Amino acid sequence: MSTILGCIADDFTGATDLAGLLARSGRRVSLRIGVPTTEPADTAAFEVIALKCRTAPVEVAVAECLEALDWLQRSGASRFFWKYCSTFDSTEKGNIGPVAESLMQALGTKQTIYCPAFPENGRSIFMGNLFVGQQPLAESPMKDHPLTPMRDSNLMRLLEPQVTMPVGLVDRLTVAKGAAAVREKLDALEQQGTAHVVVDAVANDDLHIIAQACRDMPLMTGGSAVAMPLPAIYAESGALSTDTPVNQMPTVAAGAIVLSGSCSQMTRKQVAAYVDIAPSYRLDPLVLAVEGTADALAWLSAQSLESNPLIYATAEPCDVRAAQDTLGVEKASELLESALAQLAVAAIEQGAGRVVVAGGETSGAVTQALDVEQLDIGPEIAPGVPWTFCCCADRDIALALKSGNFGAVSFFEDALKKLNDS
Ligand code: ADP
Repeated sequence: MSTILGCIADDFTGATDLAGLLARSGRRVSLRIGVPTTEPADTAAFEVIALKCRTAPVEVAVAECLEALDWLQRSGASRFFWKYCSTFDSTEKGNIGPVAESLMQALGTKQTIYCPAFPENGRSIFMGNLFVGQQPLAESPMKDHPLTPMRDSNLMRLLEPQVTMPVGLVDRLTVAKGAAAVREKLDALEQQGTAHVVVDAVANDDLHIIAQACRDMPLMTGGSAVAMPLPAIYAESGALSTDTPVNQMPTVAAGAIVLSGSCSQMTRKQVAAYVDIAPSYRLDPLVLAVEGTADALAWLSAQSLESNPLIYATAEPCDVRAAQDTLGVEKASELLESALAQLAVAAIEQGAGRVVVAGGETSGAVTQALDVEQLDIGPEIAPGVPWTFCCCADRDIALALKSGNFGAVSFFEDALKKLNDS
């Protein structure tokens, strides 16, 4: 199947979020972890490549994104989407602008749009200024982000030092007039040589108008929300034929394992709720450092996976600090991530068909240990967290990968129920 839209995301959870929103259309969406090393095969209508380049040096990010673009072009795509965070996480150097400009150059296109708005999640843009809920970006908690502190709310001003070509705006007053007005304004800006155009959006309807106006652009950039209407728009315009395969879920074995390496506030609540309803085992980094994983592996092998057991490192901040003080931050993380990855492999060997993982870094460690390079996107458990399917040890398995604060208190139960109901 030839790819209609090729997407490049600057981190893994951002890629999952985008893939989940595209999959709401029912079309097949495939997520690749890193640029595939093999030639495109069995490609989906919507392909998303997850990179890890948000805070990489600019040259590294640009090179990786160009490699991803090349692979997506070979899979047949002629339209592309550069996905970054809805809080425009970047520094003065990049990487949002430099990557967009390099992709434009490679595609020979003179203009792209920037629309990180996600009104459902409280991210809106008005007169080029990004708001997080009711706060301007620069007054939101993002002002203190350790890697990408956002100290200005104006997207044009943020973008200017990152690019070489002129920056402009299509404001809300134009968006409110509809797709034709947005298209006309973009064309006028292009005539004047404006290559980088921030587009206002404060509501879901705005995103639909913008996606409609930009549907034939070789490159769009933004958060995941502005891409969500694209499958329906492509179907309407005939770009996506009606016989394009819809998403089909494989059958997976019933046994499940829940692995939690996240200590975020929401995950702590989710673990607390789940220990009441399923067998659970707590991984203690201080014990692991001395005794290794034998006890945890023995506990796992004594469990029936039909009872959906939980193994967790999740702990309160004071316990995390105590472990980190004794072992060092990196050593503690490394021990736990590798233990959880080893337990995932053991659970699959034991017959598990469903694996739920909490924690962004932990998810990375688990997918690496399972040697997963490609995931098909399935039903959405919570906003931004879909079930995914992959082939592992010669059979299909389902993976739910959740970072930090995503999902409701009942997330683990919700995830398993969702798969049973689908
Ligand atoms: P999140 O998505 O919530 O940020 P991550 O998996 O990305 O979760 O990061 C959590 C990190 O904390 C992991 O490296 C994990 O191994 C580590 N960790 C988990 N539990 C503990 C603990 N009890 N003590 C020390 N570090 C921990």
